[in-house]
Amino acid sequence: MKKSSLLIVALLAFALSAVAQNNVPKPKNPKIDYWEEAWGTSQQLMFTIETDWSGNPVADDCTVEALFTGGDYTILDADKVTYSIYTDDDQLFVFTPEEFPQDFTEPTTELPYGFEGMCCDGTTLYFENRNAITATADPFFTWRIGIQVHYTVDGVRNSSDIIYLEVFPQMHPATEVTSTSFVADWSSEPNCMQHAGFVGYDLYVTNKATQETTVIADIPALTHVSEWGNNEPLPGRTYLLEGLTPGATYEYYVVSKHHWGEPTVDIPSNVQEVTLPLTDGHGYEAGDVNHDGVVSIKDVTDLVDSLLSGDNGICSQCADVNESGDVTIADVTTLIDRLLGSN
Ligand SMILES: [Zn+2]
Repeated sequence: MKKSSLLIVALLAFALSAVAQNNVPKPKNPKIDYWEEAWGTSQQLMFTIETDWSGNPVADDCTVEALFTGGDYTILDADKVTYSIYTDDDQLFVFTPEEFPQDFTEPTTELPYGFEGMCCDGTTLYFENRNAITATADPFFTWRIGIQVHYTVDGVRNSSDIIYLEVFPQMHPATEVTSTSFVADWSSEPNCMQHAGFVGYDLYVTNKATQETTVIADIPALTHVSEWGNNEPLPGRTYLLEGLTPGATYEYYVVSKHHWGEPTVDIPSNVQEVTLPLTDGHGYEAGDVNHDGVVSIKDVTDLVDSLLSGDNGICSQCADVNESGDVTIADVTTLIDRLLGSN
């Protein structure tokens, strides 16, 4: 093993162990109740920072059982609770004095618990003149919006997870591509919540040469059991498309359908494109884990991301670089060695 790959493995081990906890209680994960775009220009984000029956913010040991049975849980000092807003890929939202002149005199990324002002009434944030859903230029965000609660005691901090609400579905590149099939993948990361009123997805697939479009209607959501015991829909999933034309190029996207009051609201994803191989056989070089046609440092980072997150948005066949039958950290080092030309 080369020194450089040893270094990367050491950094990885450090990154994994750096999750080590401090003694400050971790705030219970917040919830996003609703995202609404009203009148084309006004955006509202309704959120819940979790409290007990008495309205005290609580730590993550406050379970539904603890609330109902009077069990022990940790009450947080409300004065030490703050929260931040994130968009898309964990981009921290900045409240500026230019946009919110009544509320801030300097750029601000954390609001105190219970903050009231022109931008917020404690449980709803108002973003005036920020287009998202209807935007064609400079959208506020393109995919999802999230919130994270912080608890800071004597300069030491613990934070909840970032909890996202997926407003737009996000279509990822195709996976498991064969000459006649591929998997459309608009799966979401953990800690993403489904937007209100979800009733199903419609998947649109167009053969670019013939302009023939197939619609797979009413694909249901995956669900999980919430802490309250009910089945909650999760945003995103995958769908296997079969019986396609070898060598053809397909454009595809998904529409997320919601009932908000009477009308159904359709929220489309971005459009992806895939060209199927003319013949089967895998067609990708070992190490090309993202199937972009080259083995590069991008494959290393994608493989590391996949190992750290447990996501399998990469080709497991191409990721088994050392042909051990499993995808592990050893494949990362083999891949790095190969890129450095020692193999
Ligand atoms: Zn592959």
